[in-house]
Amino acid sequence: MVEGTPSGRGTHARGPGSLRLVWVYPDLLSTYGDRGNLLVLERRARLRGLPVESVIVNADQPVPRQGDIYLMGGGEDLPQILAARRLRADGGLRAAAGHGAVVFAVCAGYQLLGVEFGGEEGQPLPGLEILNIRSGRGERRGVGEILADVDRSLGVPRLTGFENHQGVTRLGRGVAPLARVVAGVGNGDGTEGAYAGRVLGTYLHGPALVRNPALADLLLSWAAGPLPPLNARDEEWTLRLREQRLAAVPAGSS
Ligand code: GLN
Repeated sequence: MVEGTPSGRGTHARGPGSLRLVWVYPDLLSTYGDRGNLLVLERRARLRGLPVESVIVNADQPVPRQGDIYLMGGGEDLPQILAARRLRADGGLRAAAGHGAVVFAVCAGYQLLGVEFGGEEGQPLPGLEILNIRSGRGERRGVGEILADVDRSLGVPRLTGFENHQGVTRLGRGVAPLARVVAGVGNGDGTEGAYAGRVLGTYLHGPALVRNPALADLLLSWAAGPLPPLNARDEEWTLRLREQRLAAVPAGSS
């Protein structure tokens, strides 16, 4: 299980070659534009002159263990259950996380990182045991826009996203909430998402890294070290989208 605070570049930190991004199981886990997370990481790395290599791993392929950043998206209950079975049998994602790779997972992907998650009838099913979290079924489905204020130590401004999930998540020892909900549901107890080491999960689609470029840069810096800011021209449309999405939700509207 990955625990504790992120400590800069770890033993897994990449060498001089390309930054290796691994998109895990887009055939089972990618809803509401989660692919945008991959595109944004590629773009923001390249704008800094970092060469990037993206590997797309479908559910019938082995998960490579030498990636720098792994991405998982959200999914319906049944694809999520199949993904859990295959990822547990494969072992690659868990091994990479154990060596300090960065993992960013959304909704179903986030729940899968945990010790258990709720199946299609709410039955507890085993997760990947990468994060000490447990998910189950909540009373009501969380659907709509979400805003959340990020743990100050991460230095990321307010998150904007879209959520659609029945699951609720409880955090165990060694794991910190990513953010505090301002509007929406998140984990179901006023917190949103979780992180430990360089593993970070969230309920936010949107896609999350498109709406929240500082979160994308945080993940890139965990893998590649400190990054220079982008120039204003390259940020213009990103920031416009972000402002528009933030303004669309009155705070406290959960
Ligand atoms: N099936 C899970 C739930 O409803 C995850 C949904 C999602 O990824 N959007 O909680």
